[in-house]
Amino acid sequence: MNVVAIPCLIDNYAYWLPELGVVIDPSEAGPVLDRLDGASLTAVWCTHHHWDHVGGVVELASCFPGLKVCGSGRRPIEGLTHTFADGDELDGMRIMAVPGHTLDALAFYFPEGEVFVGDTMFAMGCGRLFEGDAEMMYTSLARLAALPAATRAWFGHDYAAKNLAFTKTLLTTDRQPLPPPATMGLEVQTNLFLRCDDAHLAAMVGSVPGVATFAALRRRRDQF
Ligand SMILES: [Zn+2]
Repeated sequence: MNVVAIPCLIDNYAYWLPELGVVIDPSEAGPVLDRLDGASLTAVWCTHHHWDHVGGVVELASCFPGLKVCGSGRRPIEGLTHTFADGDELDGMRIMAVPGHTLDALAFYFPEGEVFVGDTMFAMGCGRLFEGDAEMMYTSLARLAALPAATRAWFGHDYAAKNLAFTKTLLTTDRQPLPPPATMGLEVQTNLFLRCDDAHLAAMVGSVPGVATFAALRRRRDQF
């Protein structure tokens, strides 16, 4: 599938799926309209309600009459027209509810090999726990980690450089801080937040494998 990453704001990405006429997470309309260059849109899919993911929705809706604006509906998004629930399928995409960063967080999974994860997961990292708790996020990340290894993950932000520096405090890796996407297989190997069941990592953060290690890692990263 053709995925066009559109840099927005400082380190955000919107993603345009030209075959579907869909844009995911337009934090601002200007860069999206520039990149579309006259192509039309039928829908906007929002991974979650944060302003730096939905800030361009209203302007895009004014440019494309009838635009469907889709999100979980568990938190308010201005201009929302359709709600998505865990397990819904459309256009070859399956919706995954992945709460933790926010309560309304969604991932958009295409079994043909793509997943759009918003702020739930980043290259070598994960989102902060603004609304959910550690157990929620641990469970959500486990669902993403269980996707096929070849699946390409597209993140809501590029935090790769700082996440790599944090990773290297606990894991030896020769991974580079590249822009999205990254395969789920690479994340499972090098993303500490997907490795919380590793006894060696748990011991390094003074914890026990599982959600307690996730919570310890998240606290460390918050202070990094
Ligand atoms: Zn966010």
